[in-house]
Amino acid sequence: MSVLPIRTFPDPVLRTPAAAAGPDRTDLHRLVQDMFETMDDVGGVGLAAPQVGVELRVFTFDVEGRRGHVIDPVLWTSGELVTEPGEGCLSVPGLHYNPERYSEAVVTGVDADGQPVEYRGQGLLARCFQHEVDHLEGRLYIDRLTGEDRKDSRRRLRDRAYGQVSGTTQADRAKSVNSSFGGAR
Ligand code: ZN
Repeated sequence: MSVLPIRTFPDPVLRTPAAAAGPDRTDLHRLVQDMFETMDDVGGVGLAAPQVGVELRVFTFDVEGRRGHVIDPVLWTSGELVTEPGEGCLSVPGLHYNPERYSEAVVTGVDADGQPVEYRGQGLLARCFQHEVDHLEGRLYIDRLTGEDRKDSRRRLRDRAYGQVSGTTQADRAKSVNSSFGGAR
């Protein structure tokens, strides 16, 4: 197993919709193990394969004691659109915003053995599922911001200094305690 480098904005792999993993299970166990190790190494609560440069529909999560992985996920959302403070992303280090997300989510798919899985989440777990499935569509959480948050994020991402902040924050990632998906739990 190995800890994989995490791709950060503006790496184009983060904007590329991932391909279905399909029935070929070759290398998927290894990929999932490496993703867990990488996610744990940085204290993240979720990680999608494109974030480690793999364009396949796979994500891992570890939220409030719920831990798992889903291959070729299908997402259903329900409940209300809610905002919770401090959503972040390992691939957009240093920023935290509050995009609206549905309060409940169900995700189905298969595991690395090809067995069907289904996870139901509320609150942070539901938010995590929506965040990770977005990654598989080539979408980042900053795309979901509106109003002042949207303006602010665009300004910061345009800022030439962001590259430096990004590099610094990568090294210091585990300390970003306010992040839902970008730091320590
Ligand atoms: Zn993310």
